[in-house]
Amino acid sequence: MRLNLRWPSRAEDRFEKWIAQRHQERVLAGETTPQGPCPGEDFLQKLARKSKGIRLSDPRVDHAATCPACMRRLLTMRREHQSRRQKIIFATAVATWVVIAAVITVARHELQKHSLATNSAVVSETVNLWDAGAFRGQQPGQLQSVTLPAARVRLTIVMPRFSSPGQYVVAVTHGPDGSGLISEAVATTTNSGQQETLSVTLDLRHAHAGQYYLSTTNEQDQASYYYPLQIR
Ligand SMILES: [Zn+2]
Repeated sequence: MRLNLRWPSRAEDRFEKWIAQRHQERVLAGETTPQGPCPGEDFLQKLARKSKGIRLSDPRVDHAATCPACMRRLLTMRREHQSRRQKIIFATAVATWVVIAAVITVARHELQKHSLATNSAVVSETVNLWDAGAFRGQQPGQLQSVTLPAARVRLTIVMPRFSSPGQYVVAVTHGPDGSGLISEAVATTTNSGQQETLSVTLDLRHAHAGQYYLSTTNEQDQASYYYPLQIR
């Protein structure tokens, strides 16, 4: 039904176009007789732009519609007008895209700067296990709980009393048996007075807040000690 209603109007459009085309051809071929003198360029410009200021009863409209010279000027003006409009539309589209691209670039840059700043910040923390009991493997003892932030942590560990010097693996894991590794690093103890200290950088940025374990494993005797760790 809709199609039936639309079809005749399209056909009429085509028919009118065809009539106009035929008329144009006749005018350009000089088969019509124009009345009166040719109107000024100004008037033809307005006519080409279909200006609302022009009344169809104006005798100059009749002239332009039947004069080959005026018709030719009109057709040229229409073409110029159309290409100018297309250029304006194109320029506007380009300008819009340039603005959008600039906004995206600036936003991306700001975001990168922000995430770089938050991601690369290293937080210094010291964990003093001097008086800590730990448990070896699954053997719970007197535990000292440690709290660390979910960040890149430059961790200084004061090792428990009587710890042997040497190379240690420091790890953060989910389980008290070394399962679910979050981050680990190797370091050699440095001696300050009576105390042995370890200095490692642990990446805890991807750890969710919760309960974990911090472990130290002596590389020589492979003895591991676990401390409950809270990541906040
Ligand atoms: Zn004319």
